[in-house]
Amino acid sequence: MTDFDADLFVIGAGSGGVRAARVAAMHGARVVIAEEFRIGGTCVIRGCVPKKLMVYASRFKDDFEDAAGFGWSVRPPSFDWPKLVAAKEKEISLLSEVYRANLIKSGVRVEQSRAELDGPQSVRLCASGRKVSARTVLVSTGASPVLEPDIPGRGFAITSNEVFDLPELPKRLLIIGGGYIAVEFASVFARLGSNVAMAVRGENVLRGFDGDMRNGVRDALLRSGIELSFGVLPTNVEKSAAGYHVTLTKGARVDADQVLIATGRRPNTKGLGLENAGVELDCLGAIKVDAFSQTNIDSIYAVGDVTNRVALTPVAIREGHAFADTVFGGRPEAVNYEAIPTAVFSTPELGCVGSTEEEARAACDRVDVYAANFRPLKAALSGRAERTLMKIIADANTDRVLGAHILGEDAAEMAQLLAIAIKLGAKKADFDATMALHPTAAEELVTLRTRTARYEREVAGPEGPDCAPLGAE
Ligand code: NDP
Repeated sequence: MTDFDADLFVIGAGSGGVRAARVAAMHGARVVIAEEFRIGGTCVIRGCVPKKLMVYASRFKDDFEDAAGFGWSVRPPSFDWPKLVAAKEKEISLLSEVYRANLIKSGVRVEQSRAELDGPQSVRLCASGRKVSARTVLVSTGASPVLEPDIPGRGFAITSNEVFDLPELPKRLLIIGGGYIAVEFASVFARLGSNVAMAVRGENVLRGFDGDMRNGVRDALLRSGIELSFGVLPTNVEKSAAGYHVTLTKGARVDADQVLIATGRRPNTKGLGLENAGVELDCLGAIKVDAFSQTNIDSIYAVGDVTNRVALTPVAIREGHAFADTVFGGRPEAVNYEAIPTAVFSTPELGCVGSTEEEARAACDRVDVYAANFRPLKAALSGRAERTLMKIIADANTDRVLGAHILGEDAAEMAQLLAIAIKLGAKKADFDATMALHPTAAEELVTLRTRTARYEREVAGPEGPDCAPLGAE
């Protein structure tokens, strides 16, 4: 018997917390989960799910245009933003309720309240002031968008938290940032009918992704009519009669109806009472954990974005599951972070798994690159000026495939499947030995026979006559 009110108290009912709570309960633990907002967390409520719904909505624009090339006559389509917002809201409310129902079905007690740590094994429910003692506490409070840089008038700007529920579609949207969120929303809003401008402080979008893919995304954004400025920062946001004036470095000014700041996210650790329990944070305010998601305090664990390891939903879910198996299932599991597939849902979308060319060249002595840049079959009739890029990176010494990157329709779906092969340690020869499925874009991945470039550590650049830059045909 135990003196604790619960075996596990989970703070935050997002992807990681919900999975941990349910699995722990299935292992027989008495679990309480507290959520101050809506059950489901960022992914379900104001992240992946509503974003993907909006991506679908935006792509109809291309479909209507493309249809003509296939013999269809489409009357000029019109788009109703409030209708999309309402449909999206209905779906995420439903999903949130499913999450709640599944928690309850698993025997988890759900508390609709903010919860803060009162000590290493004590949590206070802010709504009632009630204290709950727990043998183990899991912090899974996620992260929130930052409003940076810290410039006058930044309070006028919105973040990805607000963008899903704007009362009307902005005619002119300025997006600050060039990461996942900035690129995805630029692509969405440009298709829904907004005039979109992006102000990016770097020299390109999507830092950290493969260089050729970054260029491909940049070109696709430009083709969508998005105005891109690189090497600029906002310095001031002012309210104007019709919206906002934004001053950028280099003296540029942009008028916009909405300004979306998408310059990263910060772990939600403020005011959680972590100091009451002595939990250590890193310099970004993320909770420091070991391979089993345990903090420096034995009874306290943390999973998901609040730990700032890999800020992706499936990773948080896996961390939550591994935590529950480790602590309550008697099966210690450290999450393996290798070969995590990821996608940027621009249009066309970018799907990737494993090393970029740049990472591979930094890590390996000899790297082979196989690349294709082609016009997708659909574009032959639609007339769309779209390119599909594919790239396989292999270790030239072992032939092992280190990374695969695709920019094109269904790239995310392909990346998910490629992740299995790469996780299994597939060699380029295994790709070559795989029969193609025709006619698909994906068949290109198993028919890429000609090396585009080989890089050797000692050699400054691509060697030999077969070192054509990606894009040359
Ligand atoms: P990202 O880290 O992806 O991008 C941030 C962008 O803002 C970069 O372009 C960065 O520039 C720029 N930036 C950072 N600080 C400043 C500043 N002070 N002034 C001006 N620009 C700045 O963050 P996001 O907000 O786009 O997304 C947050 C996280 O959410 C992602 O990292 C990802 O983990 C997750 N996410 C995943 C998605 C998916 O899986 N499809 C979709 C959306 C989000 P620089 O490159 O120079 O640093």
